[in-house]
Amino acid sequence: MAQDWNIKSRGHVCSVCGRPLEDKCPVTSVLRDSGNGYERMDCHPECWNTLERDWEPFSLWEGVYTAPPPPDARKEPVKKETAGELLRKLVALDDPEMKNAVYVLAVMLERSKILVERDSRELPDGTVRRIYEDRKNGDSFVILDPRLRLDAIGSVQRQVVALLGGTEALPGPGRKDAPPPPAGTDAPQQQPAGTGTDAQPQPQPPQTEAKPGGAPEP
Ligand SMILES: [Zn+2]
Repeated sequence: MAQDWNIKSRGHVCSVCGRPLEDKCPVTSVLRDSGNGYERMDCHPECWNTLERDWEPFSLWEGVYTAPPPPDARKEPVKKETAGELLRKLVALDDPEMKNAVYVLAVMLERSKILVERDSRELPDGTVRRIYEDRKNGDSFVILDPRLRLDAIGSVQRQVVALLGGTEALPGPGRKDAPPPPAGTDAPQQQPAGTGTDAQPQPQPPQTEAKPGGAPEP
């Protein structure tokens, strides 16, 4: 199962009193580090301010609650993966190899006014987590700031653009969960076909593996 504890949806009822949050009214959002991931609370500001507690929030920010659109408005045909969806997938993957791409994508979404940075927190180990919130639906993302060097950002941006354009595949769970090759057979392994009907043929790296006893081919 994907680790998605870094993504938390905004609630639609107050976490303290249980009454609905009102459209376009202030909301206090709180992340609590439970030691096993983050718990999110969304509260009426007055409910939060009067809440008796013996713990400190990992992060806290003030936002404005926006009621979800009526069902009809959601029926937009999705033609290609949007940047927001890609971010969700990447965050849920929680793949250390993708940490730079996740961060740069979040910054790109912030510049596009899709996300807003709500907070940043330095952990005891010196790493920094930035908390972004989706301006539309209020989902929050806890994202590691890898402290990229300026000269490294360009190549990461190209990677993100390739991921968005579908020319680079995600290190998805589909690969990790692929069954291991059967043991004891010399049958050539078939490469899985493209994942979509519009998949582009991927250039294959040249096979340089030496065969024992084999002469180099002319
Ligand atoms: Zn309340």
